[in-house]
Amino acid sequence: MKKNDVVRLKIDDIGVNGEGIGKVDGYTLFVKDTVIGDFIEAKIMKAKKSYGYARLMQILEASPDRVEAKCPVARQCGGCQIQQMSYEKQLAFKERKVRGNLERIGGFAPELLQEVMEPICGMEEPFHYRNKAQFPVGKDKEGNVIAGFYAGRTHQIISNIDCALGVPKNQEIMQLILDFMKEFHIEPYDEETHTGLVRHVLIRYGFRTEEIMVCMVLNGESIPQREVLVERLVKIPGMTSITCNINREKTNVIMGNEIRLWWGQEYITDYIGDVKYQISPLSFYQVNPMQTETLYGLALEYAGLGMDEAVVWDIYCGIGTISLFLAKQAGQVYGVEIVPQAIEDAKRNAKLNGIENAEFYVGKAEEVLPKYYEEYAKTHGGETAHADVMVVDPPRKGCEEAVLWTMVNMQPERIVYVSCDSATLARDLKFLCEHGYELKKVRPVDQFPNTVHVETVVLLSRKTPDDTIEVDLNLDELDATSAETKATYEEIKKYVKEKYQLKVSNLYISQIKRKCGIEVGINYNLPKSENPKVPQCPPEKERAIRDALEHFQMVS
Ligand code: SAH
Repeated sequence: MKKNDVVRLKIDDIGVNGEGIGKVDGYTLFVKDTVIGDFIEAKIMKAKKSYGYARLMQILEASPDRVEAKCPVARQCGGCQIQQMSYEKQLAFKERKVRGNLERIGGFAPELLQEVMEPICGMEEPFHYRNKAQFPVGKDKEGNVIAGFYAGRTHQIISNIDCALGVPKNQEIMQLILDFMKEFHIEPYDEETHTGLVRHVLIRYGFRTEEIMVCMVLNGESIPQREVLVERLVKIPGMTSITCNINREKTNVIMGNEIRLWWGQEYITDYIGDVKYQISPLSFYQVNPMQTETLYGLALEYAGLGMDEAVVWDIYCGIGTISLFLAKQAGQVYGVEIVPQAIEDAKRNAKLNGIENAEFYVGKAEEVLPKYYEEYAKTHGGETAHADVMVVDPPRKGCEEAVLWTMVNMQPERIVYVSCDSATLARDLKFLCEHGYELKKVRPVDQFPNTVHVETVVLLSRKTPDDTIEVDLNLDELDATSAETKATYEEIKKYVKEKYQLKVSNLYISQIKRKCGIEVGINYNLPKSENPKVPQCPPEKERAIRDALEHFQMVS
């Protein structure tokens, strides 16, 4: 098989990026824009030893799962990858992708997944769901001003102001802006020469409030005839915020740092559930508000709160969407996020909603969380920090191991993992399940219909010590340094039983002794790291054992 060969093949699989996969004489070909079941003619573009990439030339026989793409430029545009697949099949593909990764990377048994996986939450109407659009503005070959989307993996603009994923209002707004630019000869920005004025137009729409924001991203401070533009835009019902963003850098980054208000206010307001958010041009905000409500509703359900005193952590909290969702049913919520601006938004949104039990930390989760854990022990006489529920919603690369370790150490009863990449999700779940947790529920949510992306919400619960084999050694015999020990394990057990009506094992006593710096004997070397098979002493019992150690004057 070599470059430019034209071949015929049947597509019988789909890759992680939505591309069709088929074989010709045992040689695997990846063909974009095809659907399982298509019989096609394709031209080989790149040939490697055992596989290659081909370009779809002709569909000889269309798959029954193929539908006509709603958008005329679906094939060229880099935004949607699987618009030509029926929505039902898209959902099935995403479900399979999550299950496949959990099996292969996570090592979870198919029978277990059968039991814990709930059907994917799809959308009733898988189009026009995005509340945010960023249209690059440029020129076509004839020199006409156009706006649209970048072609896949390039910066060539495909003219299209009627994106099927965005709200229909975008078209009206963009047409108005393009007409205005033509009328007053305003130049779009040119990436090559770093000249021209209008780079992008950002539009945001509040689905609940119907408020609209327009932000003109400029390679300059303002625009000629600005009043005319504003006067025209404010006639559009719902217009709430008109601003410009100054970006004079030679960069791929869309937005600059400076916002100037042209009309109205700098932000629009919208809701997720009954939590209200103020969204400014630079704020991060989930782009599919309906499915976000579903996603975070599930996270809330899985968190199983309702306990007024629950201590909840929301790691990778962004603007605090999940934190604020959970705060109403928790005692205290702690959020951790790396972007300072997002934390400012989180704090402001907490205030806006009258939420006082949410606290936010700025920094890398892999640094903030372990540090919090260490500091807590130092300032609480060796007592370990505990959480009732921990939620994580990491970026695609998943959680750093330091985050996972600290979570395990904090022994939450439940962990809710919200993921946008099921491969790293599977890797992290494997770790957590090797360290005392078990998989209870998995539910994919289709946040981004017509693209290959899929979100997943997972519930893990802490295995009770009874689920593991309890190693109850006679530690009194093993303790080589028993001279130091002032009370025997039996005495400690008796004390705890009488005062607290709690049964504690030798293992738990030795764990707490060790935490307090009391030697537990060379023959009983507990592993430094938490061993998955060794149950960890719960906080309630830890407090009782510490009291006993104090009582017997073994710690001061
Ligand atoms: N639940 C959030 C979105 C989470 S997206 C919301 O609805 O707003 C993942 C978040 O993790 C992003 O906000 C990103 O800025 C943040 N992030 C990325 N790396 C991080 C790290 N090492 N430590 C903490 N936060 C990080």
